[in-house]
Amino acid sequence: MDVIWEEFLKIIKEEAGNQVVETWFKAVCLHEWNPSTHQVTLKTPNQFVSKWIQEHYATLLKTHLARLLHTDEITLAFINKEEKKTSPNTSKTIIPAALIHAREKNTQVSEHVSEQLPTRIPKAGSLVIRKKKPKEILTKNLNQAYTFNSFVVGPSNSLAHAAAYAIADSLGKVYNPLFIYGGTGLGKTHLLHALGNEVNKKHPHLKIRYETSDRFINDFINSIRFDRSRRFRDRYEKLDLLLIDDVQFLSKKEQTQEMFFHIFNTLHQQHKQIVLSSDTFPKEIKDLQSRLKSRMEWGLIADIQMPDLETKIAILKKKAAMQKIILPDAVSEFIASRILSNIRELEGALLRVSAFSSLTNQPITLEMAQKVLLNLNEKQKDSVLLDNILKTIAHHYGISITDIKSKKRFKDISTVRQVTFYLMKKLTFCSLQSIGSFIGGRDHSTVIHAVTKVDALINKDKDFLKKLKMLEQKILIN
Ligand code: ADP
Ligand code: MG
Repeated sequence: MDVIWEEFLKIIKEEAGNQVVETWFKAVCLHEWNPSTHQVTLKTPNQFVSKWIQEHYATLLKTHLARLLHTDEITLAFINKEEKKTSPNTSKTIIPAALIHAREKNTQVSEHVSEQLPTRIPKAGSLVIRKKKPKEILTKNLNQAYTFNSFVVGPSNSLAHAAAYAIADSLGKVYNPLFIYGGTGLGKTHLLHALGNEVNKKHPHLKIRYETSDRFINDFINSIRFDRSRRFRDRYEKLDLLLIDDVQFLSKKEQTQEMFFHIFNTLHQQHKQIVLSSDTFPKEIKDLQSRLKSRMEWGLIADIQMPDLETKIAILKKKAAMQKIILPDAVSEFIASRILSNIRELEGALLRVSAFSSLTNQPITLEMAQKVLLNLNEKQKDSVLLDNILKTIAHHYGISITDIKSKKRFKDISTVRQVTFYLMKKLTFCSLQSIGSFIGGRDHSTVIHAVTKVDALINKDKDFLKKLKMLEQKILIN
């Protein structure tokens, strides 16, 4: 069971990202599998986690667990670790790992943080979901959440999207193969599934198969081990649409490349559609046979880039709407401007903010999002976080860190010091004590005094407020 769950975690990490695994699946285990009832029971820390997983990841769970357990169809059941406890008063709520950091801080600094986290989440009986899964979807390995409908089109991905969309209507006729390349977390896998789902919807009789290169390689190796490579090849050569994700992993796999070359030729000759994705251009894939590289360039090569700000905002809004999360415009703009590397991270940020809001039972606000995301890296120590803020402030005002921390009472320096206290309190979950002691060993009352002073200045002086906002932005995008 543990092996299956480990395997499942690997797949989820690949498909949904590490953040999702860390936040939701790390503390979960596969408790029981009953082959006669097709029921898988998962053990989770508490009802909140069960519910979240059920609402957001049921399809993913059912699809992959069914594959790993070699069955066509499964139902999911959940039990909570809390349920085993005899007295509800003594039971301790376990919350997702990613939030523990924020929560520890919050409980110790209740004096200045108004968002109190609930001490425990109400428990309830186990949740049982029974939904019939259409057989053919499972055998095609398609994730039904990834559709054209849930894919936001912008300048960064319009070519890849248009090509995939066109193919759905004329398989094997327009671009064969379609080769999509781009950095990680930018939507390649989503597009491949979207195409598969669309074709499946329009032409349910067609044979479609989605595979990651890793799984293709493993299946191939197993087929050799059990002397079934002919069967392996036949399975692929009868397809109408073959989607292979991350072909860069075929690198160095000589025998698999050989097999893939034959499958490619057979399908191509029969005008069957092939769609491939990779993190680089075919020529750049290392240790790949050149005859395969040239075949990958036969059709259309479309790249996906990091989306611009507007597209990022549109993606966030779409994801929020799909998950029924109420996301104010200011928050989506803030998240979109803060996350620069990829869309998976964008989703991770949304997930953190919405999980925090659910746990604290408060609506999402800009202030909350700023705090949650400034503490994004939970391994980051308070001292590192405060140090970064201090450095930005010192640089901004052209005053040395030593002066800010000193006991000097010149007006300029003490105003900057007060601003430092104010912003540290506003933008982090650090306690007043730790902020005070960080800035020259002061106590928490000094911090409160400084915050009151800055509040007064803000009310009195519009110009000061404007400058303060600029500095705040500088810290947030740092
Ligand atoms: P890749 O395969 O390129 O590493 P994925 O397809 O796994 O990236 O995308 C990462 C996440 O970002 C997925 O959850 C996907 O739904 C989402 N995503 C990527 N691009 C878009 C888009 N244009 N619209 C909506 N969601 C997107
Ligand atoms: Mg991918």
